[in-house]
Amino acid sequence: MSFSIPSDFASELYFINGKRVKGEGEQTFPVYEPRSGAVVGQCPTASPAVVDSVVRAASAAFPEWGTKTELERAAVLHKAATIIRDNLEEIARAEVRCNGKPIYEARVDIASSADTLDYMAGIAPAVLQGDSMDLPGGPLTRFAYTRREPLGVVGCIGAWNYPFQTCMWKVAPALAAGNAVVYKPSPFAPASPVLLGMILTAAGLPAGVYQVVQGEAETGQALCEHPLIRKLSFTGSVATGQKVQQACASKNIKPVTLELGGKSALVIFDDSEVKSAVAAAMLANFLNQGQVCTNATRVFVQRGILEEFTNDLVKEANEKLVMGDPLNDDTRVGANINEGHLNRILGYVESAKSEGGTVLRGGVRAHPAGVENGFYLEPAIISGLNDESKAVREEIFGACCLILPFETEEEVIRRVNNTSFGLAAGVFSKNLARCHRIAAQLEAGTVFCNSYNDTEVNVPFGGFKNSGHGRENCPDTLKAYTQTKAIYVNVQDSLEHCF
Ligand code: NAD
Repeated sequence: MSFSIPSDFASELYFINGKRVKGEGEQTFPVYEPRSGAVVGQCPTASPAVVDSVVRAASAAFPEWGTKTELERAAVLHKAATIIRDNLEEIARAEVRCNGKPIYEARVDIASSADTLDYMAGIAPAVLQGDSMDLPGGPLTRFAYTRREPLGVVGCIGAWNYPFQTCMWKVAPALAAGNAVVYKPSPFAPASPVLLGMILTAAGLPAGVYQVVQGEAETGQALCEHPLIRKLSFTGSVATGQKVQQACASKNIKPVTLELGGKSALVIFDDSEVKSAVAAAMLANFLNQGQVCTNATRVFVQRGILEEFTNDLVKEANEKLVMGDPLNDDTRVGANINEGHLNRILGYVESAKSEGGTVLRGGVRAHPAGVENGFYLEPAIISGLNDESKAVREEIFGACCLILPFETEEEVIRRVNNTSFGLAAGVFSKNLARCHRIAAQLEAGTVFCNSYNDTEVNVPFGGFKNSGHGRENCPDTLKAYTQTKAIYVNVQDSLEHCF
């Protein structure tokens, strides 16, 4: 299949009617390459009028795609998955340039994005089947059946931490269910969804069925409010999620999926194998420079192993968190998304210090050789805070691991749940009965037992409480991109009435 990745990626960041284009708009925003800190382009912001024309074009393209069978649509999506696998290294490198994450992680994200396409395309024919129901009088008189129909044009708004994968988690089920999609990426990582457009088009997706517009709050809001947008799927912060949900009810009523922030916790009991518990704390805090929604910055450690665990974690972090150009194979800590975000994380380190915390490692800006101007932060491990401190209460969204001692099971469950977020949690113990008992009591959409931050394409993902509603990566996701139509059928020659 012919497909090649453009080298001048930042020059055309809209994907309209099957083609990369520059886009139009009086206002622009700078496009950064986080690894070098360089501004690599200026991208126009889509005004509400531009959003309107792009949504209308998607609406015009929708009927052709929406009336194909699930198997016909699946053929295109499976082809797109093949293109991704055939070009994995190049796509992963583009993702590094877009977001600053180590190439090692980008390869995993891109491979799993291909799996998402195969999974959604593969389950759609079975999951989206209708039902048939016999009615009183029997099937020779009347029956009913249901059809699962696509919604029309779906709007999707993404965050910047997993630019390609976040886009895929929304676009794959939306397309598999027969919808057209208008996607608005974060202005901090705008390029990857355009690449996905090129891949889908090369795989045979009709022009206009997948569109990408760029911009910030005004553009996102225009998408949320547009009457032809029949569903909105959003990934981002709680504060923006609240605005999105309101805007989605302002002009017409649309269903909303919200994948929002978190303040997750990892609980380590003193019967845990310390080496594995340290591994879990590393996975829970330092993937993607800590910019992971499920990250467990609150690491609760039972007193009995507190000292051993803390010493081993700091040692492991010092040895294994190799920082450098994220395009290098051996780099494990890449660049943060931008200067503002880096300073926000540093602000949490400062607040922790002022509230009595001890910084055991990291927490300072770094300038790795060759990429000195990128947005690098030496990952922090901090102890000595209590649950009231700012860093322990708020989402940091950066590499800032907080070690918090605890005594009893009952106490730690209460402290873990004492937050308005509810995205994820982890529990470590050799006592499996205790793991399951605690998993059932934690207020979180995902619980990891003796592990952390596993993400599989066929396991439901989403939040409790303020971390959102709706699920990605499961049959329910596909269903949420459809509407059920019930059809009553009278098979008799005549119909009687009650009057
Ligand atoms: P953000 O809320 O600032 O922005 C998210 C998106 O919303 C961006 O595309 C932004 O341009 C857009 N936006 C901003 N204002 C808007 C408005 N008024 N109407 C519509 N759209 C608007 O979040 P972020 O900084 O991009 O991402 C970080 C946040 O996302 C963190 O809280 C993180 O936990 C969360 N997140 C959650 C998940 C999840 O699956 N639960 C995954 C990744 C990130």
